[in-house]
Amino acid sequence: MIYKGNPVSAGIAIGSAFVYDPKILTAPEDAPVLPMECELERYENAVRAAQAKLREIQAAFTGKDDDKAEIFSAHLDMVDDEEISEEIRSAIHTGANAAKAVEQVYQQYADLMAALDDDFMVQRAHDLLDVQQRLLRILLDAPEQNLSRLNGPVIVICDDLMPSDTATMDRANVLGIVAQKGSYTSHSAIIARGWGIPAVLGIPDIMSCVSSGDTIVLDAIAGNLHSEPTLQELQNAAAQQAVFTEQKSISDKFLYVPGRTHDGVPVEIGLNMGKPAPEVLKASAATDYVGLLRTEFLYMESDHMPTEEEQFAAYKKVLLEYGERPVTLRTLDIGGDKSLPYFALPREDNPFLGIRALRLCFENEDIMRTQLRAALRASVYGTLWLMFPMVSGLEDFTKARIIVLEEKERLRQSGVAVSDHIKLGVMIETPAAVMMADQLAKQVDFASIGSNDLCQYLTAADRMNPAVAQYCRSSHPALYRAIAMTIQAFRKENKPLSICGELGGDKNAACVLVGMGMRKLSMSIHAVPGVKQMLSRYELPYLETLAEAVLQCADANEVERCMGEFLHS
Ligand code: PEP
Ligand code: MG
Repeated sequence: MIYKGNPVSAGIAIGSAFVYDPKILTAPEDAPVLPMECELERYENAVRAAQAKLREIQAAFTGKDDDKAEIFSAHLDMVDDEEISEEIRSAIHTGANAAKAVEQVYQQYADLMAALDDDFMVQRAHDLLDVQQRLLRILLDAPEQNLSRLNGPVIVICDDLMPSDTATMDRANVLGIVAQKGSYTSHSAIIARGWGIPAVLGIPDIMSCVSSGDTIVLDAIAGNLHSEPTLQELQNAAAQQAVFTEQKSISDKFLYVPGRTHDGVPVEIGLNMGKPAPEVLKASAATDYVGLLRTEFLYMESDHMPTEEEQFAAYKKVLLEYGERPVTLRTLDIGGDKSLPYFALPREDNPFLGIRALRLCFENEDIMRTQLRAALRASVYGTLWLMFPMVSGLEDFTKARIIVLEEKERLRQSGVAVSDHIKLGVMIETPAAVMMADQLAKQVDFASIGSNDLCQYLTAADRMNPAVAQYCRSSHPALYRAIAMTIQAFRKENKPLSICGELGGDKNAACVLVGMGMRKLSMSIHAVPGVKQMLSRYELPYLETLAEAVLQCADANEVERCMGEFLHS
């Protein structure tokens, strides 16, 4: 059987399916209650089993990822917390079965903490529920429910991957990702591409069509999932996989060459990065700048709001690595589909149109100022460019700029050194910012186009919703026209303009963008060799003709046809 979806990270995976369906477990109402001693023993055994598992996880992270090790050490404390254990025992004494007692007592404590309206306590509540679920899984004999410790290489089948799932994912064992939700620019797609893991998103109901343990073939070039493949299909897929790997190894040779067209026009190639992992920093020589430091990953991988010191250390590391090459640090961009377990976001009907990114920072100035101080202090270690996301006009930039200047002044007054050469810029990712690009270009030091959001806001189609993927197409001519307007505005003011949305790392789109006048493209490390190889094949006048043709296209299909006629992969 073949299921179709959107291929969002190219490659072929062959392996065993793992259906990831994290359900909240509850104790069944009609479960029998065993004699009290038996229920007590069941509870004590469950605690011991949970402790053993938690110690094992903690040991695996210790020394490799101390932040995660700390989370599990806190869970170890909670699993045999004296007060909680006492209450569970007394609930069992009064006739509850072990599962019901565990469910109720942990829930009560979690509710109490969540009600305190303190970020730290909200996170504790979340941890308590995590421990409750672990105990319930043991008591109800339900399977493990996270991706942090997989038993072997698997293709993950899920509804959607939350950033918190990917933060703890056992990456080495993930051969491929399949999700019911999501499209090319959703965060799971960005993560998959960043890791070079084949992924197909937007296959409705796939979780009920495939079972854990089934052998499947994921063709993330065509966008197909083959369940129950025949021997012949498995052999074909293995051959296709070998060809893909071979082609990739040819384009990988372009990783360290300078970005330029065939006739030698230089194109700066930037890196989009999350947490500065050693393997990402190692490839820094392949790029001319960091076009997007997605600082929210630092917040998402933590169990608390990262402190100024924690942020300072992370930013300093990237700035030192890049030296004179600019590092574009995007201030916190949460809201929309990105949440933090320890920080309650406002409930909104349309979170992508709500208190998101810079708007959320304005509402929580303490969070914004802490981040800015960390960045400003780190600025002396390299070349810092600060960039604000989700700007809808000049007033947003002016307000953010004032806050930066205030923090800069405060630091200087207290004797802390801050660089004199920090540039302040904006993301162009709302239609309003495009329409105001001429004015923005006069005020800001630089800008970067966030084509992922710009596409969804221009087409009024949710980038996360596969049902409207045919509307939110990155090959929509409206997106190219908006980009062309922005390029003109920034050229006129002679200010740097980059693109850090996924379009910049798409080989064909990169050619069109360069033809339109873009000279800075930022992308994930895995896209770098392919884009450099592609640009090296064509001369600028040819790409300019391509760009003109694209700007005249009537719809996305025509744009794709046009690119197909001009360019050869
Ligand atoms: C974008 O919107 O293009 C972008 C780079 O930001 P994000 O994908 O993180 O929203
Ligand atoms: Mg964005």
